[in-house]
Amino acid sequence: MDSLAHVDKKLMQTPHVAIIGGGYAGMAAAVTLAQHGVAVTVYEAGKALGGRARAVEIAQLSTPVDNGQHLLLGAYQTTLALVNIVHDGNAPYLRLPLTLYTSNGAQLQAPALPAPLNTLIALLRARGLSKTERGYAIQFMLRHRLTQFRLQHDISVAQLLGTQPSTLITKLWEPLCLAALNTPIEHASAQVFLNVLRDSLTRHQQDSNLIMPIMDLSQFFPQMAANYIQQRNGQLITSHRVKQLNRGTQGWTVDGHHHSHVICAVAAHQVNTLIADLPHIQPVPDYQYEPIITIYLQYATDVRLTHAMIGLNHTIAQWVFDRGISHQQHGLLAVVISASGAHEALTHAQLAQQVTAELHQHLSTPAQTIWQQVIAEKRATFACTPNLTRPAQATNDPVFFLAGDYTASDYPATLEAATQSGVKCAHLIIESLPE
Ligand SMILES: Cc1cc2nc3c(=O)[nH]c(=O)nc-3n(C[C@H](O)[C@H](O)[C@H](O)COP(=O)(O)OP(=O)(O)OC[C@H]3O[C@@H](n4cnc5c(N)ncnc54)[C@H](O)[C@@H]3O)c2cc1C
Repeated sequence: MDSLAHVDKKLMQTPHVAIIGGGYAGMAAAVTLAQHGVAVTVYEAGKALGGRARAVEIAQLSTPVDNGQHLLLGAYQTTLALVNIVHDGNAPYLRLPLTLYTSNGAQLQAPALPAPLNTLIALLRARGLSKTERGYAIQFMLRHRLTQFRLQHDISVAQLLGTQPSTLITKLWEPLCLAALNTPIEHASAQVFLNVLRDSLTRHQQDSNLIMPIMDLSQFFPQMAANYIQQRNGQLITSHRVKQLNRGTQGWTVDGHHHSHVICAVAAHQVNTLIADLPHIQPVPDYQYEPIITIYLQYATDVRLTHAMIGLNHTIAQWVFDRGISHQQHGLLAVVISASGAHEALTHAQLAQQVTAELHQHLSTPAQTIWQQVIAEKRATFACTPNLTRPAQATNDPVFFLAGDYTASDYPATLEAATQSGVKCAHLIIESLPE
C-alpha cells in the first residue's frame, strides 16, 4: 500500500475519473465532477440508468412506470439541487406542503408557518388523533428538540417510543418510520429516525414538503445527468458490468481502461465482488436488507384519489399514490408496501387481489382493476438498525472512493444519502487536485 499512497503527479494534473454504477450516487458524483471540468466515464451494468430508482417499461402502458414509487422530502437538498441543475432550473416535481391523509380520516396538515411551528400546529390540529395522543406527539417532538435530536446511545425506534400510547404509534410513528427507514420499528435505528424528523420537521418550513417526481425516475435525474455530463465531454457506457479493477502507480485500469481515480458507486452487496482482488481496500460489511413492493393497479382513466397520496391503516397496503395526479397516468394507482412482513407469504396475484379489495373497501375505488403489475424489490434498502457501521466515502487508497446510500450518512437508505455520498466523493477528488 505504501507505494500506492504516492499518486503520480502528472496523473493528478489530468484526472480522469471512472465511476462504476449509474444509480443516483454515481450520477451525482458524475455531475459534480463534470461541473468542475473533471473528465468522467460512468460504467453502468444495466441498460437503463438509475439502479434502484429507475424507469421500467411495461407492455400495458406507453409511458414507463418506476421500479418502485418514490417520495422525496423537501429536506433532500442535495438531490433537489442536482435535479434542478440537470433540468436547467425547471424542477420536474410536485412540491406539496406536509399533508398526510389516511383512509380512516386522520389528517395532518402543516400550515404555512416557519418550522417547527408548522409541525407543532399540524400535530395540534391533527384530525383522527385524540387530544391525549396529540399531547404525547407534541411532547415527544419538544423533548427531542431540547437535546437537538441526539441520543447518547442508539436504540430501536420501538424503545424510543416506549411511553407513547400504542394507538399513536400505530397511527403516526410506525407509518412514518416505515416510510422513512423501511425498517420495522422493533429493529429501526432511533438515531436515524430522529435525524429524519430533525431535518424535515424542525428546520425550514419547505424541508417538510413532500416532493413527488412528475416523470419516471430515470428521466428525473440519472438520464438527464447523463446528458449533462456528455455535453461536458463525459462518457457513459451502459450495459457494461465492470469485472476487473487493477491498481498501479499510474492509477487504475477498469476492464483495461486507464483512469486516475475510481468511485465505486455500486450497491453495498455488489462492492465486495468488485474489490475481491484488492486487499488494500476494506470490504463493506454484510448488511441485512428490507424489501419494498409496489403494486400498480390500473382502473378506468376517470378514477382518481382525493389526494396525491393517502396512507392506509390496518391493511397490508400502506400508502397509495395517484399516478394520474403526478405522472398524467390517469387511473393508475401505485400501492406501496414497505419492509418485511406477513404480506411476503402471498403470491403476486394474491397481493394484487388483496390490495384491490382493501382500496375498494377504504377508498371506494372499483372492485376490479383493468390490469395490475407487481414489482417486488427484495433488497430495496439495507435494514436501518441501531449502531450500523457505514463506511466513509474516502478509503485508505487516496484515489479510490465509495459512493452509495449505505456509506456514512445521517440518513437511511434514500436518494438523498446516495446523492450526498456521490457529491462528497467528487469534492474529495476536486480538493485533492493541484490548483
Ligand atoms: C422500491 C423502492 C422504493 C424506494 N423508495 C424510496 C423513496 O420513496 N425515497 C427515497 O429517498 N428512497 C427510496 N428508495 C431507496 C433509493 O432508491 C436508494 O437509496 C437509491 O436509489 C440508492 O442509490 P445508489 O446509487 O446508492 O445505488 P443503486 O441505485 O443500487 O445503484 C448502483 C448501480 O450500480 C450498478 N452496478 C452494480 N454493479 C456494477 C458493475 N460491476 N459495473 C457497472 N455497474 C454496476 C447497478 O446496476 C446500479 O445501477 C427506494 C428503493 C426501492 C428499491
